[in-house]
Amino acid sequence: SKVPSITLNNGTAMPQLGFGVWQVPDDEAFATVGHALEAGYRSIDTAAVYGNEEGTGKALAASGIARDELFVTTKLWNSDQGYDSALRAFDASLEKLGLEYVDLYLIHWPLPAKDVYVDTYRALERIAEDGRAKAIGVSNFQPAHLERLLGETSVVPAVNQIELHPQFQQAASRAVHARHGIVTEAWSPLGQGRGLLADPTLGAIAAKHGRTAAQVVLRWHLQLGNVVIPKSVTPSRIRENIDVFGFELDDADLKAIAGLDAGNRLGPDPATFDMA
Ligand code: NAD
Repeated sequence: SKVPSITLNNGTAMPQLGFGVWQVPDDEAFATVGHALEAGYRSIDTAAVYGNEEGTGKALAASGIARDELFVTTKLWNSDQGYDSALRAFDASLEKLGLEYVDLYLIHWPLPAKDVYVDTYRALERIAEDGRAKAIGVSNFQPAHLERLLGETSVVPAVNQIELHPQFQQAASRAVHARHGIVTEAWSPLGQGRGLLADPTLGAIAAKHGRTAAQVVLRWHLQLGNVVIPKSVTPSRIRENIDVFGFELDDADLKAIAGLDAGNRLGPDPATFDMA
């Protein structure tokens, strides 16, 4: 396919652009994931808490695409943290997805106050050892959580999936990831399609290239080296969001977008988020 792959720190190849399915109801996931696969996406990002692993798995099976051409990510929910409970939760996710392995399994949030992410991660190491996840990693881990994990466990996370978009550029986390060979995966890469896509700077760059603001933002991520997983349920936008390999932002564009960083967090703060 035309989507380039990034090589993770354990040698696994991950498509640099995938499809996110947060907030897609289970009974719509079959059709929506089907549209994405048809448009050329091969990487799908789901999570136990999204409640759509079954619909997602059915779409993967119905596509007829070979398993080794797909890249499936799911995540361990907060209430399942802990060594034994993580192993059980992983089994349940595999069962719902109808798969024998996932490509990437992530701890969804660090829950630092609960202080069990190290034990939880040891369960992920075991799952990786058994070959049931080709790669393991984390999500929403801040530098302090990562440093602790690196100090107390042996497998360096392949990926840290964090909120990242032009108004929340996460320079500190990106630097820590680069230092440790952890790939930065951007969630809400389009800023959830809210104010960001109406930004006049992005509008001007989009006009210059004959592209949309969403395509400019995705291009910015790709040129930074991020993995992106934009979400849409609208087939035309699903196609638009993968049609980002036929143009390139120049230095002036990248500099202008760097100037949009505003510390504008849209999701919860991982230091305090503890939803069960
Ligand atoms: P996103 O930034 O991908 O934005 C999606 C929204 O933007 C859509 O619902 C739509 O309203 C709009 N949009 C999409 N394409 C568009 C286009 N071409 N033109 C105009 N508007 C467009 O937001 P997201 O869904 O929050 O994030 C993407 C994925 O990241 C999720 O589906 C999920 O897989 C993942 N995610 C992970 C976490 C986590 O804690 N790990 C949290 C949030 C999201």
